[in-house]
Amino acid sequence: MPNIPNSLPLGTSKQIPAKFPIGKVDTSLPENYDAFRVLDPDTNSPDGQIYLTTLPPRYVGQTLANNPDGWAECLFYLTQQKRGIISTPGFPSLIARPPRVRHRIGPSRFGNGMFATRDIKMGELVISPIHTPQPHRRSLKEDSEDFVGRLEPQNREAFFKLHNSHTEDGSGPIFGRIRTNGIAILDDVPEEQKAAGDLGCTGVFNEISYLNHSCTPNVTYKFFRKSLSLAVRALRDIKKDEELFMSYCIINEPTAQRQKQLKSYGFQCTCLVCSDPTSDDLLVRIRANSSINWDDSSLDPVAHAETWIAEMEALGWQELSEYGLYLSIAKTGAMAANDSAKHRWYQDRHEAWMEGMYGERVKIRLFAPGPGLTTADDMKAFMESLQHK
Ligand SMILES: [Zn+2]
Repeated sequence: MPNIPNSLPLGTSKQIPAKFPIGKVDTSLPENYDAFRVLDPDTNSPDGQIYLTTLPPRYVGQTLANNPDGWAECLFYLTQQKRGIISTPGFPSLIARPPRVRHRIGPSRFGNGMFATRDIKMGELVISPIHTPQPHRRSLKEDSEDFVGRLEPQNREAFFKLHNSHTEDGSGPIFGRIRTNGIAILDDVPEEQKAAGDLGCTGVFNEISYLNHSCTPNVTYKFFRKSLSLAVRALRDIKKDEELFMSYCIINEPTAQRQKQLKSYGFQCTCLVCSDPTSDDLLVRIRANSSINWDDSSLDPVAHAETWIAEMEALGWQELSEYGLYLSIAKTGAMAANDSAKHRWYQDRHEAWMEGMYGERVKIRLFAPGPGLTTADDMKAFMESLQHK
């Protein structure tokens, strides 16, 4: 039996959100493709099949009216991907939604955009987009056409309203829209699943495609496998009527790298940091100063952290993990100095920021005065350890 999944290029481990390769993509079918293609397989299907399926499973009598969370039409190249999702603790969960609608779509200087309809605090949920098609990041054109055909009519209509920036490269109206609007959802794949070859999926979601790009975004998203949905949360306090921006690229890279990542979207970013030639140097200094020597008695950790927090807030760079490190330094430093009011302030800010970044409120009251999480890698490892508990 030829190993179909390994014959497909599955992307690299360094993922760029929402990105398919720039330019023409190979939409040809692999050898023996039809022999491995299955519709609605059961969970005992053997490995190595390519299939379309609906998750969570849909029962007789269920409609979008009586089940508004709906279903994701999924296209998998690995049977273990389906098993992995079904075995996620809590699956299928209801989609968490904000208590009141906090967003609207409207004209922006970038065409259409998404705006806040009320003040939103850092960490709060802005929108939980409903899942629509969820193909693998290396989707085949023919499969894409099939699963769009399986969508509920209103989701299909929403899908075809999405922009297609791949009209000239042979992608076609469906795969082109997936390439333009797909979001890489890799951050919730447990390590053992990754080891089994599950490198995550690409999701296309209602509404979220109206979020325009900024390298200093005010919202970000987290994908939850247990509900197959995204939670879009505020990265800082947002005022009513402010436009909401997410980042389409990895923001902690130099300007030239970010511009390269953004190329396939067909625009040149002119955000605050892209138009400032000194921002790359500032990024290096932000990183270098986010790790401090706690034994250095000549350094006031709180004053040090506050200087950099102010610098990052002026630019709107809260999505950088270093922002969380500085909040953590300020919090820990305030506790060491017995300043309980300031400690509480930074404790709350840090928790709200974590909620914005990672989609859930995590109570962190573990830090004794001392090193804590001093590098971006420490922070990442720590967050990962929490996610997989
Ligand atoms: Zn930019």
